[in-house]
Amino acid sequence: MPALLAPSYAESGLWQAQVPPPPPTGGEPPASVDVVVVGAGLCGLAAADTLATAGRSVVVFDREPLGWGASSRNGGMVIPELKSGPAGLERHYGELGTRLYAEANEAFDFVEATIAGDDGRAGIDCDYVRSGQLYLAHSPSHTDELRHQAAEHAALGEAVRFVEAGDLGAEIGSEAFHGGVVFDRTGGLHPARLHAGLATRAMNAGARVIDRTGVTGLSRRAGRHRVTTTRGSVEAADVILATNAYADAATPVLRRKVVPVGSYIIATEVLPEDLARSVSPTGRMMVDTKNFLFYWRLTPDRRLAFGGRRSLDPVDVSEARDFLYDSMLRVHPQLAGTAVEHAWGGNVALTLDRLPHVGRLDGAWYATGCNGSGVAMNTWLGHRLSQVLTGEAPPPALAELKHRNVPLSSWRHAYLPLVSRWFDFQDHR
Ligand SMILES: Cc1cc2nc3c(=O)[nH]c(=O)nc-3n(C[C@H](O)[C@H](O)[C@H](O)COP(=O)(O)OP(=O)(O)OC[C@H]3O[C@@H](n4cnc5c(N)ncnc54)[C@H](O)[C@@H]3O)c2cc1C
Repeated sequence: MPALLAPSYAESGLWQAQVPPPPPTGGEPPASVDVVVVGAGLCGLAAADTLATAGRSVVVFDREPLGWGASSRNGGMVIPELKSGPAGLERHYGELGTRLYAEANEAFDFVEATIAGDDGRAGIDCDYVRSGQLYLAHSPSHTDELRHQAAEHAALGEAVRFVEAGDLGAEIGSEAFHGGVVFDRTGGLHPARLHAGLATRAMNAGARVIDRTGVTGLSRRAGRHRVTTTRGSVEAADVILATNAYADAATPVLRRKVVPVGSYIIATEVLPEDLARSVSPTGRMMVDTKNFLFYWRLTPDRRLAFGGRRSLDPVDVSEARDFLYDSMLRVHPQLAGTAVEHAWGGNVALTLDRLPHVGRLDGAWYATGCNGSGVAMNTWLGHRLSQVLTGEAPPPALAELKHRNVPLSSWRHAYLPLVSRWFDFQDHR
């Protein structure tokens, strides 16, 4: 169904339209620094902030204008998750799995503490609310699995509970689901505000942020890195690659380790208060159990932001918008007649094991593979890799995972449609 569009409809991000990034430091690239960071998203900026605070000279390059990447385009859900729960991780990875799960929680705590200013520095005003998450069974066949998940988390003492289908009315204004799980440890924020706040924080700490300057190559000589950019070269003792789904020809090996896949969001016009409450009485971050899942939430200014994808293939934003609008009305028929004001998309980085990865490539550290959930994790990984460089912390447990290349990565356009069909088939069972 074609979406109903508001007269002010724009095919661009709601968040970026509301909150522009701060002016980057800009200027000419320095001849030499302690650390070059590639990518000025949450990961790169958190890395730069920690390094500059520890007294290191650091420059962050971004190929695009500051605020262009996934960090300002996402759903703003802050979730301590990896793609399996604690028991699944332990089954698969043994004691390492327990440490991986602990890192997902540490990432969440780090972001909450940074926003609150618990480290004694200025906090970040980004409309953060510890809203909780509602994870919804899209088919009756998923209900038992969710019940089991809730029990698994509750057994660890976490504030997680299963909600029977008949009781879901208190959580969501929709008849489309067959039970759900409420996770208290999830929050919602305004992504562009978080990104802008982190950029300001890093620059205030002394990091230089130079945008519209792509890194085009990396080499090593006598133990030092030589980083070539579109505006000259920089020598550095260390390099952090924080490019996630947007890794390009500058880092061909890293590019082979992730599959960039589009995710799209529509944002409605501002909803009347009672309509907003009928959609989401609790204001939780909502996600369903499909492979091609939907994620949705009320925004701080009371719109509904509804995100997802139909397949792994790239599509136009307008095509994704119409699909999402139709899907939104199936979930929330009370929104019929509500217009869309913004539609946009961005890339997430999938890995073969659906886990984030950190590692080293020719001496440079990298963090990548958000698998659609990196607001907490990628921010923390940037911080944590910097602590590795300053000697404050050992590499995270995630660095112990083997990070395999995506097979036949340059042929992915040929086989992703087949994978999409398989996922879609599973979602309709
Ligand atoms: C539509 C959408 C919705 C999402 N929703 C959520 C959500 O609700 N919750 C959640 O946890 N996660 C979500 N995510 C994922 C989350 O946004 C990302 O995991 C996170 O922003 C990644 O941050 P990053 O800093 O690693 O990468 P990015 O923010 O993507 O930054 C990478 C930067 O690297 C730059 N770059 C690449 N190559 C070069 C080069 N050669 N030289 C210089 N610069 C370069 C790019 O220009 C880019 O700015 C979503 C993502 C999308 C796209």
